[in-house]
Amino acid sequence: MIYLDNAATTKPCAECVAAVNEAMENAFGNASSLHGLGTVSIQTIAKAKKTLLAAVTGTKAPFDGSVIFTSGATESNNTALLGSMHRFRPHALKIVSTAIEHPSVAKTFVRFEEDGFEVVRLAPKDCDDFVSALADAVDENTALLSAMAVNNETGFKIDVPRLYKEVKRKNPKTIVHIDAVQGFLKVPLDGDLISVSGHKIHSTKGIGALFVKKGEAVLPLLSGGGQQNGLRSGTEPVELIAGFDAAIRAYKGSEELFSRLKAHLLERLSEMDDIGINSGSDCVPNIVNFSVRGVRSEIMLHSLEEEEIYVSSGSACSKGKKSDVLPAFGISDKDTDCAVRVSFSAENTTSDVDALCDKIAKTIKRIRR
Ligand code: PMP
Repeated sequence: MIYLDNAATTKPCAECVAAVNEAMENAFGNASSLHGLGTVSIQTIAKAKKTLLAAVTGTKAPFDGSVIFTSGATESNNTALLGSMHRFRPHALKIVSTAIEHPSVAKTFVRFEEDGFEVVRLAPKDCDDFVSALADAVDENTALLSAMAVNNETGFKIDVPRLYKEVKRKNPKTIVHIDAVQGFLKVPLDGDLISVSGHKIHSTKGIGALFVKKGEAVLPLLSGGGQQNGLRSGTEPVELIAGFDAAIRAYKGSEELFSRLKAHLLERLSEMDDIGINSGSDCVPNIVNFSVRGVRSEIMLHSLEEEEIYVSSGSACSKGKKSDVLPAFGISDKDTDCAVRVSFSAENTTSDVDALCDKIAKTIKRIRR
C-alpha cells in the first residue's frame, strides 16, 4: 500500500499506539476521581498539556495561554467561534475570514450571518498579499478574524505571526482565531484561539485541542460535569490525550523531506502532457494539488486504488463533492474537476512518488486514448 492521503488523516505512529495502550492499562481512572488512579490521569493530562502548549506556541513554560482538549478540530473551531460570540455583541458585528475555510468554520459563519453578523470572506486569487489584505479588512467594528494557517486542499500557507501582528495593530480588540489543523508542527503559529487536531499528526481520531491565549475567554458549548475548568464538560479521554502527547513528541515530518518529495513529484509530472499544478511555492511542501486534464478526479482516484495507491480528489470531508475552495485560488472549473491531492508523511519515499506517477501516466494513456 502507498498512502498519500495524509492531509485527510494519518496512520497513528507506534509511539502513539504504545502510549494509548499504556494509558488504557495504567491511567484508566476518571480524572475527577479523588483516589490515586484519578491522580495518575490528572498527571497524564497535565503532561500532555505542556507538550501541546510548547508545540503550539513554539515556546517553553511559562506559557502565554492554556489548552482545552476537544474531540477534534471541528469541535475546537466551533468552540472558538460560537464560544466567542457572546463577547461581540452589541459593539462589533463584523467578522473577517477567507473563502477557503474548512466547513467547520465556513458553515459556522453562515450561522453568524443568519444572526445578523456581516462576514467578509477574502479569496487568495483576489489578493497580491493575502495577509495584508486580511488585516486591511479589519476595522474598529471587527469582532473576530478567522483564517486557516494552511489550506487542506492546496497546502496554501499564510504567515500567521505576521497576520496576528498586523491585525492587532489595526484593532487590538479583534479576536484572532487560527485553524491550524494542517499547519500544526509545520509552520509557526500565533493567535488568540488556535485549533489543532490529533489525527492529522499520527495520533488517533477523536482528539483535538483549542489553545486559548492568556486574557481570552470562550464560553463552553457543552453543559455537564464542569471538567477542564468548566470549559469542556465530559470525562477526559485520558488514553487519547496520552496518544496525542506521544504523537507530538514523536513527530518526524520535516520541511526538508517534504520539499524533496514535492520536487520529485513536480519533476515527474512535468514529463507528462497537460498537467496543471495547483500548489505553488506559497504552499507547504507536504500537500501537492494538481489537475490531470481530461481525467476526472474520481476516475484517477479509483485507477490509482487498483494498485493500492491512496490519494484524494479534494478534501476528504467533501466526500468527492466538487471543491468550492479551488475556485477561490483561481483554479478553473475544468481543472477543479480533474484535481488530485497528494499529501505526504515522513514515511513516504521517492519510490512512492515514482509508483504514483507511473500509474498516473498509464491511466492518462488509457483514458485520453
Ligand atoms: N480544519 C481543517 C483545515 C481540516 O483539514 C480539518 C479536517 N479535514 C478540520 C478542520 C476538522 O478536523 P477534525 O477532523 O479533527 O474534526
